[in-house]
Amino acid sequence: MSETIRAFRVHEHGDPDVLRLEELPLPEPGPGEVRVRMEAMALNHLDLWVRRGIPGVRFPLPIVPGSDGAGRIDAVGPGVAGIEPGARVFVLPGTSCGRCAACLAGRDNYCRDYGILGESRDGTSAEAIVLPATNVAPVPEGLSLEEAASFGLVYLTAWHMLVHKARVRAGERVLVHAAASGVSSAGIQIARLHGARVIATAGSPEKLALARELGAEEAVNYREEDWVARVKEWAGGDGIDVVFDHVGEETFGPSLRVLGRGGRYVFCGATTGPRLETDLRLVFFRNFEILGSTMGRRADLLRVADLLAAGRLRAVVDPTTFSFEDLPAAHRHLEERRALGKVVVRF
Ligand code: ZN
Repeated sequence: MSETIRAFRVHEHGDPDVLRLEELPLPEPGPGEVRVRMEAMALNHLDLWVRRGIPGVRFPLPIVPGSDGAGRIDAVGPGVAGIEPGARVFVLPGTSCGRCAACLAGRDNYCRDYGILGESRDGTSAEAIVLPATNVAPVPEGLSLEEAASFGLVYLTAWHMLVHKARVRAGERVLVHAAASGVSSAGIQIARLHGARVIATAGSPEKLALARELGAEEAVNYREEDWVARVKEWAGGDGIDVVFDHVGEETFGPSLRVLGRGGRYVFCGATTGPRLETDLRLVFFRNFEILGSTMGRRADLLRVADLLAAGRLRAVVDPTTFSFEDLPAAHRHLEERRALGKVVVRF
């Protein structure tokens, strides 16, 4: 009767050693919920922030981190129709009330009760997880388990940034920073899918090669080259139309110098720090749009799943995968900027 599962939980913030592998009771799905036996999960920078803590932000501790994953349905709660035990599913990372004006308009990421698995409630670093039935969808045809586990949060984020916020159009010039990161490898492909041209920055030859493979016309090593000069040269006199960024302090100032008139600067993170300094006159004289973006619409992720199945987009998985017990090592791998695409953990 008292079946248990293993899960990594964070009780206090800190380095990867604070991830504690614990035995927990097998969770039972309530009305409208399903239980997924996890087969793979993938890391996001969010996992690192939840583990390390953010000054002024309170996380519900102890918490199981992890927003992405895939597995099989093994129990279905009362009132859930159309989902059978045994079905292969991937996890949709955002949770919302489903009843408010934003939710009903399909803009669920603007819901006042919006939450993210592994941040506002227990996430995917566990052998089993109970979720609202609206937070799982069938694994797209032809995708491996690792791929299915890896694309959710980054594609959701990158799609919202480029399609709804920056409104990217055919022929536009897009600068994508940190090209080999999960969200940027999705961003390069989404920009290309919409007919835009892409130049990318990254910090190693392998990362530059990946950017080109994903469709970037040019890829610049920011550690070795004057990337501002290279980007200006590539973009020509009109400059860059869209900057896609989550690096923050290190990239913001220089990126404004390559942005053309009417350019849009969209960012979803600040991995090198959140404090920016700029000359506001630059922003209004050149008609810049500075756009913040977080997560995205659930419906868009279903479309992305179709595009993955059709081979129009691909999930980029880091060649190094980790076993569940090695989750702390997986955190380090991502933290040390060694990842080429998504870091996946196998159960
Ligand atoms: Zn809502």
